[in-house]
Amino acid sequence: MSQRYRAVKGTRDLFPPESERFANAEAAARRVFGSYGYGEVRTPCLESTELFERSVGETTDIVHKEMYTFKDRKGRSLTLRPENTAGVVRAVIENGLTAGPLPLRLWYAGPQFRYERPQAGRYREFRQIGAELFGAASPAGEVEILTMLFDFLGALGFKSLSVAVNSVGTAASREASGKALRAYLESRSSSFGEDDRRKLSENPLRLFDSRDPAVRGALEGSPRTLDFLDDDSRQHHEEVRRLLTRASIPFRDEPSLVRGLDYYTRTVFEVVSADLGAQDAILGGGRYDNLVESLGGPPLPAIGFAIGEDRLVQAAPRPSPAASLLLILPQGPEDLEEALGLARELRVAFPGAVEVDLLARGFKKGMARGNTLFEEASARGLDREKIFAVLLGARERGAETVSVKRLASGEQEMVPRGEVVRWFEGRA
Ligand code: AMP
Repeated sequence: MSQRYRAVKGTRDLFPPESERFANAEAAARRVFGSYGYGEVRTPCLESTELFERSVGETTDIVHKEMYTFKDRKGRSLTLRPENTAGVVRAVIENGLTAGPLPLRLWYAGPQFRYERPQAGRYREFRQIGAELFGAASPAGEVEILTMLFDFLGALGFKSLSVAVNSVGTAASREASGKALRAYLESRSSSFGEDDRRKLSENPLRLFDSRDPAVRGALEGSPRTLDFLDDDSRQHHEEVRRLLTRASIPFRDEPSLVRGLDYYTRTVFEVVSADLGAQDAILGGGRYDNLVESLGGPPLPAIGFAIGEDRLVQAAPRPSPAASLLLILPQGPEDLEEALGLARELRVAFPGAVEVDLLARGFKKGMARGNTLFEEASARGLDREKIFAVLLGARERGAETVSVKRLASGEQEMVPRGEVVRWFEGRA
């Protein structure tokens, strides 16, 4: 018996119309980010393991238990990227782009890999679309990034999203708020699970990401990162909030937002969609002013975001369809050559897909296939009035015509062969 292969757990195949929604989101990203002067960067899916340990952070869930890490044939430890910022920063340093011109604006789209428990909207291979801005330390950086993000989400048809913002301050203030949080929670942590106890001792701020009701309860009234900001970070945060208000970017303060990666400094933000059931985040981002330096580059402030493309596509309003569909039905094999020629002519004039029934199995079976395509296309939201069949058989050949059928009404008319292209120009 032959082996049946299955996609690896947590990965999936994308077919139309879903694959097209991904392509549309990426096209919108290219258009909108491009209009802000961001250029596309593509970095390898494979990086050295140490890059992620040093950037994402050894105590984070990602590094601790979610990375696909393995040794190559020479014994080097490699990891399938769990996120793209570390790779982009590595590439920027390695290629000398930190020398300018600044600011440097880059965006990316591509697969990321995390060994997580697969569940609705969560995969082991998933896609992110993101952008990184290097060399802008002032709150103007936040404003550009968040304005661009909202333009992008608007282009995809989202209307009433708001972004949650917070500040985690500098590495020193993060540390101070972590210590205070540990002290506060120590006596309240008896009902925490093993993993959350580990976080409490290693990196207590991580507990703000927990969904466990015991942890959430214990966190009520706890110290927050905002209580520990240094003066500069506080001023920066106030200015970000003021500028976002001026720019009419819908935001709300979320003092318990810290985000699951270690490299953030000052501003962090997240957009959550209520349409996604468990209040899952569509995207997250923040400022990471120390990361370039800590990965071996010069001091260079930076800010960016990563959008979960799978969740984005799931939550995005469905675009209204534009394309139409035309099926050319040769009656028998002797009509195929004419059908292929006509299809090429029509593809120039017809805005949607022009398909030839290559099996040339007679009008009856051909139309059965046509009706199936019609049902599928209507289900996808295509305009039913713009779905046609063109019939080519002995009768049509004799009269130098074709028969055009509208699938919505079943109405059929003869059109002279020489006028078919023009006939569709006004109707499709
Ligand atoms: P992060 O890189 O953890 O800040 O995640 C940024 C965004 O990527 C999240 O808001 C999610 O939308 C998305 N994301 C993260 N992990 C997954 C996953 N396992 N499956 C699908 N989307 C994910």
